[in-house]
Amino acid sequence: MAPAWRYFRAMSWTLGELIDGGYRIWVHCDSAGAGGMRCNHRAMVDLDDLARRLGRDHGAMAADLAGMFRCARCGARRSTITVHPPTVRDVKTGELR
Ligand SMILES: [Zn+2]
Repeated sequence: MAPAWRYFRAMSWTLGELIDGGYRIWVHCDSAGAGGMRCNHRAMVDLDDLARRLGRDHGAMAADLAGMFRCARCGARRSTITVHPPTVRDVKTGELR
């Protein structure tokens, strides 16, 4: 295995690490629909469901997940994946949400 590949893996997060850290992944549709109007649909990824299907050791970087999500609105597979750190805490319980 090439050193560059090992380095890339070392810099990657897995689904399990994101779940344990309270991270969220959002997928934004990149499709340019009819008339050039962007679809702009976005949805939060169910990381628990993803980990059940792919395994908690599966990579969770954009390159690992590219093309995995189909837009619920327009059916396109072109999407931008963004990872959101767990910055939002419930003020009463201190729980991440
Ligand atoms: Zn779409």
